[in-house]
Amino acid sequence: MREEILKAIQEIVGEEHASSAESIIHTHGKDQSDHERHLPDVVVWPENTEQVSQIVKYAAAHQVAITGWGAGSSLEGNSIPVKGGIVINFGRMNKILKVHEGDFQVTVQPGIFYKDMNKSLARHGLFFPPDPGANASIGGMVANNAAGTRTVKYGATRDNVLALEVVLPSGEVIRTGSRSIKQSAGYDLTHLIVGSEGTLGLVTEATLKLSPLPEHFSAVLATFETTEEAANAVYGVIGSGVGPAALELLDSEAIRFMNMRVTDLPEKPTLLMEFHGATAASINAELELVEEICEECGSVRFEAGAGRDERDRLWEGRHALGEILFSVYPESNYMITDVSVPISEFPVLAAYTNGLFDEMDIQGTLFGHAGDGNLHTTTFAPKDDAAKNADLHEFNSRVVQKAIELDGTCTGEHGVGIGKQKYMVYEHGEGAIETMKTVKKMFDPNNIFNPGKVISF
Ligand SMILES: Cc1cc2nc3c(=O)[nH]c(=O)nc-3n(C[C@H](O)[C@H](O)[C@H](O)COP(=O)(O)OP(=O)(O)OC[C@H]3O[C@@H](n4cnc5c(N)ncnc54)[C@H](O)[C@@H]3O)c2cc1C
Repeated sequence: MREEILKAIQEIVGEEHASSAESIIHTHGKDQSDHERHLPDVVVWPENTEQVSQIVKYAAAHQVAITGWGAGSSLEGNSIPVKGGIVINFGRMNKILKVHEGDFQVTVQPGIFYKDMNKSLARHGLFFPPDPGANASIGGMVANNAAGTRTVKYGATRDNVLALEVVLPSGEVIRTGSRSIKQSAGYDLTHLIVGSEGTLGLVTEATLKLSPLPEHFSAVLATFETTEEAANAVYGVIGSGVGPAALELLDSEAIRFMNMRVTDLPEKPTLLMEFHGATAASINAELELVEEICEECGSVRFEAGAGRDERDRLWEGRHALGEILFSVYPESNYMITDVSVPISEFPVLAAYTNGLFDEMDIQGTLFGHAGDGNLHTTTFAPKDDAAKNADLHEFNSRVVQKAIELDGTCTGEHGVGIGKQKYMVYEHGEGAIETMKTVKKMFDPNNIFNPGKVISF
């Protein structure tokens, strides 16, 4: 079967652009999560939409599973081909097709990595703000509705996608949306595809909203004695109406990990913030208010106005945190939570989660894009300690349950993938899940697009 699929796909893209070599299928069998590896039969690198459409038509005719692949940096098993079949790696479809400079927009192919895209866009004084830290592809970010440090000001990927070209599970190619920033014409297919994790359609082109690079910015560090005080300050800052461009909470463990490789900060709970403005004066006025709020919440140190180098180093440390965490305990299993709640509930969630580390004697760290109410933990257990590994799952479930009780969600940005499916009914209710299944069956009656993800049946 593998040989047959390979031969058929090579006829579409050319022999050198599809492979079943062991090393290739191995690297496309697992993302950055701790979910089990599943090997695809064939990996293919198409060059254009027409080839994607032909590959999908072949898969539809032969009932073969198809999973899209950007950078494989997902954290919930989203890009693992659990039913084997074909993985479409969009690495060759990585071009900027047009910069619509006057409209602050860009049209790109899905395989471009957002950091490379932003480097090119900087020449136009523009950038795409969603910033997941890992060097993800635009296709993967659209499919997972990725977000990040700047979402508190600029929104998640979903808020910054205007139009898409999509290959449906039949192989038909459709266009959704338009370049108008206001759109009210019918069902919003663009934003149905965003966040659908490649289960409804494969994105072959995306038109994205951009923002002007800020004229002035200031990075701010506020240090606290307790995580609870820092979380209260998050609500204080957002509630005051000032608009940070980033507001990250890092507990003392997270700072300790960042200090191992990049920073040299006091190992205490910290808020790392950034403010963008048209003038230095407008930023300074905001900073005075933020300092007051942090002091009222118990901050013991407040530093604003870091220069560009220092600011870049702080963000380098923040973005390196994930990689550092994965590398520090190579002999351990890890679990990542990604819950999000309304901002007024963030201090409640942070206090609950922080208490749970002690109550369950769990080793790990608490951090997150706090300004969005988004909280992450990374917890560790030795691979051979079955009881402790079970505790990590219990810890994760309890944090998710608490977030949903607080009117929040089991995943703010990583998506459902494999790992979050068990919470879907609890979060959405039976009726909504049945409706999602109906949508999936309507798009993909043969269940060939990324089967086993988001909702399984
Ligand atoms: C250290 C680290 C930190 C991270 N921090 C964040 C963070 O702060 N915020 C955040 O949101 N995420 C974060 N992530 C997760 C990850 O980077 C994002 O989910 C990202 O969007 C995945 O993009 P990718 O290109 O790697 O996609 P992949 O993992 O390759 O694929 C993701 C999903 O998209 C599908 N897909 C890929 N291409 C297409 C396409 N063209 N059309 C349709 N479907 C497609 C795949 O099948 C899969 O379901 C982090 C990951 C790591 C490793």
